Amino acid sequence: METIIIDGKSLAQQHQLRLKNQIEQMETKPTLAVILVGDNPASHIYVNNKQRLAQQVGIISELFQLSPVMTQDALIAFIQELNQNDKVDGILVQLPLPAHINTDEVLESISPEKDVDGLTIGNLGHLFAGKSRIVPCTPLACMDLIKSVCVDLTGKHAVIVGRSKLVGKPLAQLLLNENCTVTQAHSKTVNLRQICRQADILIAAAGKPKLIKKSFVKQGAIVIDVGINRLKTNKIVGDVDFDALRHHAGAITPVPGGVGPMTVTMLMENTTKIHMARHTKK
Ligand code: NDP
Repeated sequence: METIIIDGKSLAQQHQLRLKNQIEQMETKPTLAVILVGDNPASHIYVNNKQRLAQQVGIISELFQLSPVMTQDALIAFIQELNQNDKVDGILVQLPLPAHINTDEVLESISPEKDVDGLTIGNLGHLFAGKSRIVPCTPLACMDLIKSVCVDLTGKHAVIVGRSKLVGKPLAQLLLNENCTVTQAHSKTVNLRQICRQADILIAAAGKPKLIKKSFVKQGAIVIDVGINRLKTNKIVGDVDFDALRHHAGAITPVPGGVGPMTVTMLMENTTKIHMARHTKK
């Protein structure tokens, strides 16, 4: 069968063009503060991508590179200053943080109103209560990619492999909002293969290369590969055996070029959404 390769890069470019036009019409520009603590090389790449895209769409993006030995209290104090800074719309803390810092406590210090990643308990709580405000970027990206090939999700069985706060859990909520029947799998799930095979929509967000093989996928299913795994050869691969599914899945996202470009685009959309909300309030 012919498998649709869902082109996340091209979908992202369409969003970016719309966003750029929208920002051009604005009197004041959305402003994003990006905090990078330490020297993680992958984080540097992600932050540079975010900076570049922000510039392209007209968002002011300021990068704060902080010392890897910075204390948690000093980092939280820094975030609190940004919370008070009227010019800043969105605050993003690039993860992972150094091991001596408690990530949850740091994320929680971001004002929910400026939490562009939607990871504070306040924003996640609103999502789970069905009154979403700022929704995490990767789940938003997944939803757009799924909807690009399937308009009505009602009654579809979605299986998500992964239950993190960043991806799996909020995505389950978004799929429920679209009337999917949702199964959430994780590392302790028994019979993962059989469960995945039931999926009309299968989302892999485990961070395990080639976890999802052809035998895990029902013919014609939509497969969204969130995973980003760097092999010893330095090649980046997802969680799905892409080549094995090319003539088996109904539609599939590649890695790279699938969820990644859409995720960073959703970050720009969230920043813009916050900017508009803050400015209409005044
Ligand atoms: P986490 O490590 O926080 O969560 C991974 C989840 O997968 C956990 O719930 C874990 O289960 C589950 N899991 C791990 N191994 C297995 C297994 N063998 N079988 C079934 N479930 C398993 O990762 P994230 O959610 O933050 O990210 C997931 C992946 O997505 C990573 O590769 C990450 O790099 C990538 N990512 C990509 C983004 C993008 O823009 N494309 C953005 C964000 C993340 P348990 O809870 O039991 O431990």
